[in-house]
Amino acid sequence: SEKDIATPIRTKQILERYGFSFKKSLGQNFLIDTNILRRIVDAADISEETGVIEIGPGIGALTEQIAKKAGKVLAFEIDQRLLPILKETLAPYDHVKVIHQDILKADVINEIEEYFSEGQDLAVIANLPYYVTTPILMKLLEEKLPLRTIVVMIQKEVADRIAAKPNSKDYGSLSIAAQFYAHAETAFTVPKTVFVPQPNVDSAILKLTLREKPPVDTDDEEFFFEIVRASFTQRRKTILNNLSKYFSETMSKADMETCLTETGIDPRRRGESLSMEEFADLSNALYKLI
Ligand code: SAM
Repeated sequence: SEKDIATPIRTKQILERYGFSFKKSLGQNFLIDTNILRRIVDAADISEETGVIEIGPGIGALTEQIAKKAGKVLAFEIDQRLLPILKETLAPYDHVKVIHQDILKADVINEIEEYFSEGQDLAVIANLPYYVTTPILMKLLEEKLPLRTIVVMIQKEVADRIAAKPNSKDYGSLSIAAQFYAHAETAFTVPKTVFVPQPNVDSAILKLTLREKPPVDTDDEEFFFEIVRASFTQRRKTILNNLSKYFSETMSKADMETCLTETGIDPRRRGESLSMEEFADLSNALYKLI
């Protein structure tokens, strides 16, 4: 509607009135298209039962659209200068709480326990600051927060890497790290014109549906991720070459080759051709050797 925060005119008015200047270092690209905002919120399938966590509310454009549908909203904003603006723009919504904090330093679990009810349906919805997309997503996943879904606007290139399947150029350790915790899909792509200022990169909406448990069994989760990262050290090298270089102090190349063959993985294959299941089998077999 005309009153929405996310129109080009209203956004401009608010920013001028407060003399606000964008900080590129904080990834400040604000959304000015209500239609896109609604589609982001719709992708998370929320209702009045849902508690939503937002990261980086900016001047509240997305927060407002979330607030219209969610039971409660908790937003983390790092930039002090936005707090008085949010206080004004979000005044009509008393089920929204803004916390002035760096999400990477926040004790999110504790904030969830304090603000939402026990067992409440929880979703993260955000237009993420692009300079810290991956650390934020990995924090949300690794801390095993009780979330149903995470719907975020991020660089298209990162969304493609996160949702990638084996044997594609985008598939790598980030795909496996994310897909270990969640089912990942790119919901839709977004043109640069819906932001002020316009970012240099294309954007996409990534939807993560969290898993109750990982899709593979690993004897040691940390070692599994280490094997995955080592296997992609140099994408064009074979899995045997990458692993034997990485483990040159711990294992002989011959032992490594035997281990790969016994796990049913041709040592000449590249990391990008291995499924998560194969990485799990391989890391479980190698774990017994070290
Ligand atoms: N949600 C608003 C929108 O869609 O128009 C703003 C999105 S803007 C891409 C990213 C926001 O995240 C900015 O408001 C920025 O100040 C904030 N931000 C940047 N780094 C942050 C961090 N580490 N923790 C919390 N907020 C952060």
